[in-house]
This record gives sequence, C-alpha cells and structure tokens, in this order.
Amino acid sequence: MNNIVIEDLIKKVKEYNPTEVEFVKKAYEYANDLHSGQVRQSGDPYITHPLNVAYILADMHADVDTVCAGLLHDTLEDTNITKEDIAHDFNQSIANLVNGVTKISKMNFSSKQDQNMANTRKIITSITEDVRIIIIKLADRLHNMRTLEFKSEFKQKENSLETMEIFVPLAYYIGAYRIKSELEDLSLRYLKPDMYKKIYEKKAKIEEDSKDCLQEMLFKIQTLLNDKTIPNEIKVRAKNIYGIYKRLNDGHKLSDIHDLLALKIMVDEVDNCYLTLGMIHKEYHPINDKFKDYICNPKTNMYRSLHTTVFGPEDRLVQTQIRTFEMDRIASFGLTAYWEEKKGQARYLMQEDLKAKFQFFKSLTEINSMFGDNQEFVSQVKIELFSDRIYVYTTKGDIIELPKGSTPIDFAYKLSTDIGNTMVGVFVNDEYVPIDYTLNNKDRVRIVTDDLSFGPREEWAEKAHTSYAKKLILEFNKK
Ligand code: MN
Repeated sequence: MNNIVIEDLIKKVKEYNPTEVEFVKKAYEYANDLHSGQVRQSGDPYITHPLNVAYILADMHADVDTVCAGLLHDTLEDTNITKEDIAHDFNQSIANLVNGVTKISKMNFSSKQDQNMANTRKIITSITEDVRIIIIKLADRLHNMRTLEFKSEFKQKENSLETMEIFVPLAYYIGAYRIKSELEDLSLRYLKPDMYKKIYEKKAKIEEDSKDCLQEMLFKIQTLLNDKTIPNEIKVRAKNIYGIYKRLNDGHKLSDIHDLLALKIMVDEVDNCYLTLGMIHKEYHPINDKFKDYICNPKTNMYRSLHTTVFGPEDRLVQTQIRTFEMDRIASFGLTAYWEEKKGQARYLMQEDLKAKFQFFKSLTEINSMFGDNQEFVSQVKIELFSDRIYVYTTKGDIIELPKGSTPIDFAYKLSTDIGNTMVGVFVNDEYVPIDYTLNNKDRVRIVTDDLSFGPREEWAEKAHTSYAKKLILEFNKK
C-alpha cells in the first residue's frame, strides 16, 4: 500500500484508538499546510511522505504522539516552524520526538562528513533518550527505501549501504523484525540487483513446489489442535531474500536451507506450545539436532519460540515454529509490540526494559561516554555492536552476546567488573584455554576467579576485543 490518503490513516488509528483521532487530523492539516507546494522526486506532493511514515507507525499501533510526530517529522528541517511552535500547538512530547529525528543544522559543521557523523551519532544515541525516536526514524527510512526508485543510482547505492550499516542493526536490536527484513530486502535489491533477482525467482519456484506439502501439514496440525480445543493460528512463513542471500554467502546450498519455508504455529499459552510440539513429533519424524527451545532460552533480543525440523509429506524437511500469540507479536515487532501489549504504559516500559533487559544498551551507553569524537564513536559502534555477533553460554546456561573476535576477557567483563578484575583462568567447553582465546558461537565459558588475584595485567587490554573491557583494565592499572 503506497498511495495512502489521510482517510486511510484515520481509519487505521480508529481501529485501536478511537478517542484521539482528532489530534491526528490536526497534525495532518498542520503538516499539509507547512509542506504545501513542496514536491518529492517522484512528483508526488511532499505530504505523501510524512503521511506514509505515520501510516507505518499506526500499523504498529503506535501511541498518538508518535503518529503525530510521524506526520510532523520533516517540518523542523524543511519548513520555517520551530520546536517551540510544535510544543505550543501540540505538546512537549511531540515536539521532543520531532526534534529527535531532525538533522543537526549544517551551519554547525565545517564539512558534510562531520555533519553526517554527528547526525549518525544523534540517531544511534537517541535510543537512550526515547526509543520512539528510533522507531520514527526507521519508519522514515522504510518509506524512503520503498520509494528509492526515483533517486539516482549513486543515491540508491549510498542510501542502501547506510540502511544496511546503521538502520538494519538498530531494527535488529529493538526487535523490529518486520521492518528489518523489509529494509534488508530493499537494500539488497539496489546493492546487488542481479543476485536479488536470481534468489527472488528461485524462492518463488520453491514456494510453488512446496505449497501442497505445507498446506497438507497445516491442515493436519490445525485439525489436531482443534480436536484438543487449543486456540490456534497457523501461517506459512518465508525467509526473506536477504536471509537466503546471507546463507548462500556463508557457503550453504539452497537445498540445505531447511527454514526457507516454515510453518508458524501460534497457540494461546506456553503449556500448549509444548503440547503442540509433542503432537507434531508424534505425527512427523523430527531431526534430533534441529530442535531449539528459545522459550526457555530466549534470544538476546527477546525472541521466544520452539523450533523443530521434521520430515513432512513426501519426506520434505519442514521447519515448524511454535509459540504463543504474544511471543509472535514480540517476534515480529519487538519493543514496538509494547504499544499493543502494554497500552498506556508502553512508552515507559519500552524505555525501562531496554535499560534492564537489552545487553546492547549498556554497551552503547559505555561507548557513548568513552568516545567524544563522532567519527570514532560511529566506527566503534560499527565494530562492537553492528558487526557480526557470537552467542556464548555461561555455566548457568544464560546466553551472552559478544562481537565476533571477543576473548574470555571480554566475556568476564561483560558479566561484571568484579569477575573481570579477579579472573585467573578460563575453561571453554571444559578445556583450559589461554585468556586471549578467540571465542566461537555456542562456546560454554567458565571463568575461574580468585579474590586474592593481583588483578588484570596491563597487557590484557591488548588481548581484549571490546572497548568496554579495555577501558576497565586500563582504569584498574591506573590505580
Ligand atoms: Mn522524512
């Protein structure tokens, strides 16, 4: 849906918030007036852009302040209005949101490059202030990517690259999977058009070939669940093009990718997830090492589900994903699902949980306080947070997320400063290893500590990969 009109937006907002639509109408009239006469490169009136951004937000059931900020998001940058005007005519919260997504004026910088870096930093760090700013930025980027065909080829590539480097990781961290997948596919389409087309066609063929098999399974499982009166909904879920591209790039063959198509089974409660799992295993033979329990072991971005790959009809391998309706909303929308789950409390709970439950939040705050220079800050975030990740286990089975290249020193400091400072040795998968050992995905790490240790030696800073650990080691040695 690309030609959204105001009536569509109003209808969308009414679905979940019938009492505050007048406010949305007012924001639309206001933005429409301010942008009047401005035209997009596509030839459309400029207002179509904020309108679409607001619609993407309303589709996530965003609170009314956020939807209004979506409508007004380009007014500070592109019209004569001020933040104070918006605060006066609407409210302070909307004014802050719009200000948060507005670029810092170029008058403050000596070069375009400096301005870009400062703005990238502003976007990334706005998450510590109000995560809704990032969500509006993501909606803004999504609509710009959807309409990228009207830009020059250079701009298309430049924007796609920036999307992959900055916006996709941000969407990943807040768990906004829907937006992340679409941004990835749109970027790939412009960065590697031939590859995109090739995978697109192959995927369509596989979907066609497995349609009957999946429908048969879907129907059978649905019947079993209905017989037990378990409330359910089952959908066929396809991996996005970029997801397939990445696996092919890692050396996998298309025929090895078992989760290219999956059955997503949603039920009402956790107990019924396990009951469903049992029913599926009884009906279809499972592959033993393809079972994952992300309900008991959630991924670091809150994703929860049971995964099991089974032999379906005609011995086709089919991945099934079993979760509750609530888990599914979190899986698709991450923090943005709070708008639907937590209603009026959402805005505060988003920020609170981000601080308490998301490992990257702490790292980001840390990097932000350590690097004053914008360029250094951005490259550090790219290395430590936006690059490839590994997931390792503590002895208790908790999952710790680290950048690729991390060592047990990084792991120890990630657990706590005390553990890092008293570390004397380390076991990885029950074997004694040197402390600068490079950790791999799924390693089980046990740190040996001794309260009487002399503390980290200065050369450990060289052996650590993350700036967080390096900093703490150098701090300790200064004392
Ligand atoms: Mn915009």
